[in-house]
Amino acid sequence: MSSLVQVQNISKSFDNNAVIKNISFDIPEGEVICILGQSGSGKSTLLRMIGGLEDADEGTIMVDNEEITGPAKNLVPGYDFINFVSQHFKLERFRTVKDNISSVISYYPDEDREARIQELLELCKLTEKAKSFPHELSGGQQQRVAIAMALADEPFLLLMDEPFSNLDVNMKTEIRGEIVDILKKAEVTVILVSHDPVDAMAIADRVMILENGEISQIDSPKELYENPKSSYAAQFLGPIN
Ligand code: ADP
Ligand code: MG
Repeated sequence: MSSLVQVQNISKSFDNNAVIKNISFDIPEGEVICILGQSGSGKSTLLRMIGGLEDADEGTIMVDNEEITGPAKNLVPGYDFINFVSQHFKLERFRTVKDNISSVISYYPDEDREARIQELLELCKLTEKAKSFPHELSGGQQQRVAIAMALADEPFLLLMDEPFSNLDVNMKTEIRGEIVDILKKAEVTVILVSHDPVDAMAIADRVMILENGEISQIDSPKELYENPKSSYAAQFLGPIN
């Protein structure tokens, strides 16, 4: 598999506070990778740089062989092939589920738009909720609408920053399973940021543990669980051997 994302020697400081420290990694096409780390470890900053929303001080980021960011490069925000989902997703309160999704692809020709909406409703198990308004949905269903909207224009890279942090524990368990299903069927490459190891273990093909702006380990959930390489990883992922 070819790498869709190539991050090389990326560093970033805010006011002399080094937040990302010389990080390099590749993400193959179709992978769901989770960046896992404690609050303040630099997860959001790294994700925003990959999305072109934040410039790096040093290093390069390539997405689909195009340079996203680097020293002395201009920001290239709003790439239409990269979409974001965060816990702050916004659904229009006075629009139905269908109209919310439709609004993202309003520029599609009518027929294509209708077909795409039906596909997304089915993919995200929302067909029966098409005419409902956001307040008539559970938190998990609202989250699925947000994901349908993020997938609507067929991005090849989906960036998710703590998308479940507003959901209660039961809801999280329910939606994790659904999300795995949706993301695999959508065949989209995903970078999911979370501070919750359960998200990482349940959803990701590979997990990157970010500690204080540095990668301490990138492995499959199984490998991480069996061979955690830091005490941070071990404390929630598995025993120290
Ligand atoms: P995480 O998402 O893992 O919680 P962040 O990437 O949001 O971590 O933040 C990492 C560090 O960078 C924190 O100390 C935070 O205060 C700092 N930081 C993030 N964004 C900015 C900013 N725009 N200006 C100054 N400091 C920032
Ligand atoms: Mg964050």
